[in-house]
Amino acid sequence: MKKILIISGKGGTGKTTLSSSLIELLNAKAFADCDVDAPNLHLVSHYNDSDKLEQDFQGMDIFSIDNTLCKSCGKCYDVCKFSAIEKDDNKFKINPLLCEGCGVCEFICKYNAIKPNKNIVGKTQIYKSEKVFSTAQLNMGSGNSGKLVSQVKKNLDDNTNNHKFAIIDGSPGIGCPVIASLSAIDLAIIVTEPSLSGLSDLKRIVTTAKIFKTKISIVINKANLNKSVRNMIKNYLRLENLELIGEIDYDENVSKLINKNQSLANSNTVAATQIKKIANKLIYKLDSL
Ligand code: SF4
Ligand code: SF4
Repeated sequence: MKKILIISGKGGTGKTTLSSSLIELLNAKAFADCDVDAPNLHLVSHYNDSDKLEQDFQGMDIFSIDNTLCKSCGKCYDVCKFSAIEKDDNKFKINPLLCEGCGVCEFICKYNAIKPNKNIVGKTQIYKSEKVFSTAQLNMGSGNSGKLVSQVKKNLDDNTNNHKFAIIDGSPGIGCPVIASLSAIDLAIIVTEPSLSGLSDLKRIVTTAKIFKTKISIVINKANLNKSVRNMIKNYLRLENLELIGEIDYDENVSKLINKNQSLANSNTVAATQIKKIANKLIYKLDSL
């Protein structure tokens, strides 16, 4: 199964709008939302809860000290690189908000006073009917986003069979969830916008994607809003030998349709026409991936 990942170096570029439109236009039978901090593809995917299989997702263990066994030697306090162990009047305790679950303190404690505790950091959801949709939601303030993204992709793999391709909505930025999204991908479509911050973030995400040797195509969204920066982006793409697979003009009808939860892909808008051109190019591209 060929995997097409849609990402952006920054939020608000229209990544999910493009993902959901491509899913609809290409009639994708497999897709995933790897934006686990703020997933919203499910809002436009029109699935029934009866098709949903939901499971708790366990992150790295959080450790705690049993003070009935602790001899107050202080070794755990000395080795914790995350300052998660607090000392108060020669009593030691682990701050669960700072503990990264590395387990070094448990290893170092000769008195078996430190134990791991299960740590549920979110939920995974698989919607499975004629189409397979894998998504997840990280609990507020929880870590392990990269691990959860890997699970979303694994769930997609485990529940698909003979599917030709999958569309994956990634997360914005270049952090852990994006890095986890980029592994084992056949094509990364990077959505950017013509602003100086958009260009700066584009360069960062291209550099990240190149580390994975991923094939890259670029979409400039809201392309008509700033001609000079749009040209700067095009110059950058030429220098980096990157493909511009399409441009989408700013169209105020897009947000009106989204707010009414109506399909952009099949609307009579300029943006829809431009997205259809991108979808058509992708159909041809799939065979060469
Ligand atoms: S290493 Fe073990 S015995 Fe020593 S302070 Fe930590 S928990 Fe207590
Ligand atoms: S598991 Fe690691 S991060 Fe957590 S308290 Fe122990 S040493 Fe610190």
